[in-house]
Amino acid sequence: METSMSTRTDERYPAYHRRSLQDREGFWAEQARLIDWETPFGRVCEHDHPPFANWFVGGKTNLCHNAVDRHVAGRGAQNALVWVSTEVGQERIISFAELQAEVQRMAAILQAQGVVQGDRVLIYMPMIPEAVFAMLACTRIGAIHSVVFGGFASVSLASRIDDAQPRVIVSADGGSRSGKAIPYKPLLDEAIRLAASKPEKVLLVDRGLAPMERVPGRDIDYAEARAAHLDAQVPCTWVESTHPSYTLYTSGTTGKPKGVQRDTGGYAVALASSMRDIFQGRPGETLFCTSDIGWVVGHSYIVYGPLISGMATILYEGLPTRPDASIWWRLVERFKVTTMFSSPTAVRVLKKFDVDAMRRHDTSSLRALFLAGEPLDEPTATWISGALGCPIIDNYWQTETGWPILALSNGVEKQRSKFGSPGLPAAGYDVKLIDEATGQDITAPHQKGVVAIEAPLPPGCLQTVWRDDERFVKTYWKSVPNRLVYSTFDWGVRDEDGYFFILGRTDDVINVAGHRLGTREIEESVSSHPAIAEVAVVGVADQLKGQVAIAFAVLKDPALAATPEGALKLEGEVMKRVDEQLGAVARPARVRFLAALPKTRSGKLLRRAIQAVCEGRDPGDLTTMDDPAALQALREAVQG
Ligand code: ATP
Ligand code: MG
Repeated sequence: METSMSTRTDERYPAYHRRSLQDREGFWAEQARLIDWETPFGRVCEHDHPPFANWFVGGKTNLCHNAVDRHVAGRGAQNALVWVSTEVGQERIISFAELQAEVQRMAAILQAQGVVQGDRVLIYMPMIPEAVFAMLACTRIGAIHSVVFGGFASVSLASRIDDAQPRVIVSADGGSRSGKAIPYKPLLDEAIRLAASKPEKVLLVDRGLAPMERVPGRDIDYAEARAAHLDAQVPCTWVESTHPSYTLYTSGTTGKPKGVQRDTGGYAVALASSMRDIFQGRPGETLFCTSDIGWVVGHSYIVYGPLISGMATILYEGLPTRPDASIWWRLVERFKVTTMFSSPTAVRVLKKFDVDAMRRHDTSSLRALFLAGEPLDEPTATWISGALGCPIIDNYWQTETGWPILALSNGVEKQRSKFGSPGLPAAGYDVKLIDEATGQDITAPHQKGVVAIEAPLPPGCLQTVWRDDERFVKTYWKSVPNRLVYSTFDWGVRDEDGYFFILGRTDDVINVAGHRLGTREIEESVSSHPAIAEVAVVGVADQLKGQVAIAFAVLKDPALAATPEGALKLEGEVMKRVDEQLGAVARPARVRFLAALPKTRSGKLLRRAIQAVCEGRDPGDLTTMDDPAALQALREAVQG
């Protein structure tokens, strides 16, 4: 029985995936039925000027209609947006019908400020329902939103204002973190002062968290404006499938962020298809994605994906550890969450807490916990899987692609998961491994190459870099004999079953005495030591060996390295482990223990900044960094 089942599991998906590439038009025309079209499309994929690809050409649709309006008749009274804030101790449960009304009010306010189709609206908001209303209101009227993560300060915000050139900015008096109000308005005012492009109007939600000075003639109070538009009826504007729905910046882990431009029809279809095939979400169920609306995961799987598929979505403002480390699981129990989406970083935070408190909550509604954003190390995966008792499913993608490149499509057919692998190429992705030196495809298993996607990219992926086609072509695309490939800038290998393993970013490879090593592999090895909670490994210039690996580790129990003897003993143990697992060539020259690692606001390790500090260089653009104190502490550790 067992064997016949496992042979069968390997049959359907490969055929499904093959068809998505070989009969691209037929496959995506079918997927396109998952959403509503006002005008049917003609050509499924126009790829006459590669690498530019236009999906569902001639078709007219609307993202907001598909996310909200089309559900009102059938499930108008069901939950659409569930907002819980442990920061301000409030919650709001909004049905599809109520969401439609709120979005129309917001759309009417934007229109009253002169916003028309194609205008940009920048959204600089904490995790509150009005942020989601604003996003949906934009796509409702064909305005292009550009959400900027609320944790960014003036300089980062100013550069995004200048790039997007918004007519209107939607913001709030402030956010809150760990119970402390964080004023947004002074940062916003300063950003507008710094920016060359000035918005005409600023719409402000006043949460009563922080004092706000209003600029007369420019600043508008949301509550007042809303009261004037309570009965607003703003029909959805049907836009071309290729009409840009939003722009969004990459995390800036490897340098200056890139402004990703997304279409409308392709994105809606890709999300609907991924919700069914990958995330297995069903209408009427509830999805809880712990990301932030400022990131691509928030765009796709807090806002558009779940709503398009008729699911309720949880918008959570707060920390995973406050009031205690079981708050997420309380929400899962209470709202019977079926699909959960988070990141390895967030789970590693929980790992420092007692697992019993977690187990006291009934999480049996969970079908799976999906994790993405960075490599999922085995200890973290094993820990969370043991604590929750549901499958933990890695998936790999980028801001650029908008939805998973590598995943398990369990909705098509139950697929075996493999530790350390985000799985197989998702439908529509022609994923290749490219030999960096020759540009040729690597087909043999277990050989390292650059993860690449052959043109055209499937629906939902970036159309271009906002107002910079040249940067789009130059940054991402390479001509290899007879075709064009998109580079992910990540290293990977593929096993004999076609499963991919991501080895790190192409700029994270270090060269020790002629051996090319992925920092990721060394990190895996270091973090397999039971005392280690988190680690970053960087390559540092060395006169003798070219480069050596240096490891920075965070301990589960910091007391272990509190004395020089303790730190030395642990360092020795870690080195021994790497020797045994990878060989002495990969052994870090130093292992240093820190309280925290420098990360981007989206939780990604800033290896380039760590490396620069170790080499005594200027760490460069740090505007996306989360906690400057972590880098300062690292600097002291290196110097001390
Ligand atoms: P920038 O491109 O500006 O340097 P970034 O690449 O960090 O920033 P994102 O688009 O947020 O910006 O992140 C995508 C990257 O995150 C991927 O290219 C990959 O390096 C990493 N990543 C995402 N998911 C996974 C995963 N499941 N396993 C390993 N790495 C992942
Ligand atoms: Mg990137």
